[in-house]
Amino acid sequence: MSDFENEFDDASGFDDYAAEFSSDLDLCAHALRNVHAFLHGELSEEEADMIRRHLSACERCIDNFRVEEQITKLIQRCCEVHASDTLRVRVRALITSNI
Ligand SMILES: [Zn+2]
Repeated sequence: MSDFENEFDDASGFDDYAAEFSSDLDLCAHALRNVHAFLHGELSEEEADMIRRHLSACERCIDNFRVEEQITKLIQRCCEVHASDTLRVRVRALITSNI
């Protein structure tokens, strides 16, 4: 279970957020547009709270969010792998031979 699912007790502000959108689909589109920024911590705290609240109430978006969350974690794990010294030497040699 994700951390954000435990943070929905306080619903203040959500009605204001929902009022900005004319339909549930607008809310979904907004959440979808911001899912990457949300996962990368690039939203303001207020904006992130609004996304969290929407995800807690919308099955369509939470399913999409979970897929994106897994992809993001996978990419982050891949970035932690370091190339061996042998590979570095070979890549450096290839780069310098093409200059
Ligand atoms: Zn939604």
